[in-house]
Amino acid sequence: MTKFSDLKLDPKVLSAIADAGYETPTPIQAGAIPHALEGKDVLGIAQTGTGKTASFTLPMITLLSKGRARARMPRSLVLCPTRELAAQVAENFDIYAKNTKLTKALLIGGVSFVEQDKLIDRGVDVLIATPGRLLDHFERGKLLLTGVQIMVVDEADRMLDMGFIPDIERIFQLTPFTRQTLFFSATMAPEIERITNTFLHAPARIEVARQATTSETITQKLVQITPPRRDQAAKAKRELLRALIQAEGESCTNAIIFCNRKSDVDIVAKSLKTHGFNAAPIHGDLDQSQRMKTLDSFREGGLQLLVASDVAARGLDIPAVSHVFNYDLPSHAEDYVHRIGRTGRAGRKGSAFSIATPADDKYLNAIEALVKMEIPRAETPEGFSLSEAAHREPRQYDDAKGGRSKSRNSRGGRGRGERREAPVEEKVLEVVAEAVVEAPKREERREERREDRRDDRRERGGRGRDGGGPAVVGMGDHVPDFLLRSFRTARPSTAATDSESDATTEDSSES
Ligand code: AMP
Repeated sequence: MTKFSDLKLDPKVLSAIADAGYETPTPIQAGAIPHALEGKDVLGIAQTGTGKTASFTLPMITLLSKGRARARMPRSLVLCPTRELAAQVAENFDIYAKNTKLTKALLIGGVSFVEQDKLIDRGVDVLIATPGRLLDHFERGKLLLTGVQIMVVDEADRMLDMGFIPDIERIFQLTPFTRQTLFFSATMAPEIERITNTFLHAPARIEVARQATTSETITQKLVQITPPRRDQAAKAKRELLRALIQAEGESCTNAIIFCNRKSDVDIVAKSLKTHGFNAAPIHGDLDQSQRMKTLDSFREGGLQLLVASDVAARGLDIPAVSHVFNYDLPSHAEDYVHRIGRTGRAGRKGSAFSIATPADDKYLNAIEALVKMEIPRAETPEGFSLSEAAHREPRQYDDAKGGRSKSRNSRGGRGRGERREAPVEEKVLEVVAEAVVEAPKREERREERREDRRDDRRERGGRGRDGGGPAVVGMGDHVPDFLLRSFRTARPSTAATDSESDATTEDSSES
């Protein structure tokens, strides 16, 4: 078996690795490091959790230990698809380079340009960046890429998913042709193959086995429910999620809950918090410092449940996760593998629960075809039944819709808000979920408009009473016949005029 000492790494790097507690190189490290140290291009096909970060960072530090950086001309570049991943690479660099004088800068969005500019001006050995932010700096004329000797592209398949390939191509073209390229991807999609054929020169190809989805350390379960109403599916799924977490009890020390949409990440996290769970969201629309705070707290154990989108969670190295919950089945089957691979790492035991409704059948089929097995089915937790609210029409919650009716009521209306049963926040979530997941049916919209008109009338009456003019004298339930009659204009009548006036009559009879 290869030992680190066999790998011709700088002794300062070897001592840092020993301090980090690494005993033997992982397969991607044993495969990639010797080629990288010889100055060859490397194509590493490996995913997070295989030790791939060290497989490019360790040789980089060794190769860069001779020589000095010049102002605004970094000597090496590491491109990562997400801010979190870039920050993680930077942390790894600090660990492995602690015995050297090498300098680094991290260029990611959400951080002030001023501080980043200062570092670049001083000259850095290693620049770790997301593609967009790197190009921003370049375009502002603050950065030259002509001194880049080593360029790393990490998680290229994620770059592809996120639409960064044109940026990557541009960055490749801005760096010298003579650079060394270390290129990593978990999969080799045709577009990735094309990029590597264009920009890598006779690379050493090292492929490590994909994480086994049938790993004995991960217990997979699929819980299927048929929501009583399609428009209450989101609510039903949130109820089931809570029941699953509760049923796992203390064995669920920490978990990542995956949703397919950012909007659902927010809704699920808020809903869990409302029900007393220790949860927080992470997705690309959140402020960078917030994302970092949430991640740190999750890593340190302060936060128990991290609700995440696939993109935000990609590449994150979170050492021990006891559970993964798929609130949604992923629409890309490979994401199932990535998601559940977050638990059961390094021989630890882990559980992965997936919630599915009949609408997810096509995703389920694709996942099972990919992992070549049937995900074991599980019953809903003992004693679980959907709340009455999940059986009801979402219209029951109309009083919470955007607070609209509520504010009208508060101005003297007749307090429809008094019907409220669930916490206000939960109801607002309900309405948002309803709006995002499924457009209200036409009939419901029509009914809503009628209600609006009724509210408008009520409001107008209210204003009058509040002193806006003389009070309107009502006629009680009795409406004189002449008010319900349709009228003809003095002009020669047309069918349209008739039907319009009929419609007016119909409307007025609704209130
Ligand atoms: P990565 O695939 O780079 O995200 O690494 C996954 C985890 O494995 C990180 O927490 C590393 O610190 C750890 N790691 C990397 N190389 C080794 C090694 N040779 N021995 C033990 N742990 C390692």
